[in-house]
Amino acid sequence: MRDDWNFVFGQASLRDRTGVWSIYRKGDPAESTAAFAKCLTRTLHTASHETGHILTIQHCTAFECNMNGVNSLAEADRRPLHLCPVCLRKVCWNLQLEPADYLGQLEAFCRKHKLGDEANWYATARQRLAK
Ligand SMILES: [Zn+2]
Ligand SMILES: [Zn+2]
Repeated sequence: MRDDWNFVFGQASLRDRTGVWSIYRKGDPAESTAAFAKCLTRTLHTASHETGHILTIQHCTAFECNMNGVNSLAEADRRPLHLCPVCLRKVCWNLQLEPADYLGQLEAFCRKHKLGDEANWYATARQRLAK
């Protein structure tokens, strides 16, 4: 963390392939069902973003993408949970995954955890890949 930063949501090293993140600024999940869902979504955003860095992916500037850099919670809340097509390919190459299978796993995870909008996004992306 740099001296002029007030806080970070997470941080990772592309070179050392390590990372950390915190749920401290994600809201109180015990407050309500909606607060729990928001805290879970924020945590998944940060965890998957930092994991992208661990997989040596830099910030994305090409599309709206989970790998976009953010400087505030409001900005983070506008960032999608999913990856753009370019970053999706990078993750799949890194992990040796088939994109359609991976999107199916992400859809199932989101359905299981009641993240309907994201689950639907993954389902649509998977259908479009199949065409
Ligand atoms: Zn980042
Ligand atoms: Zn991207």
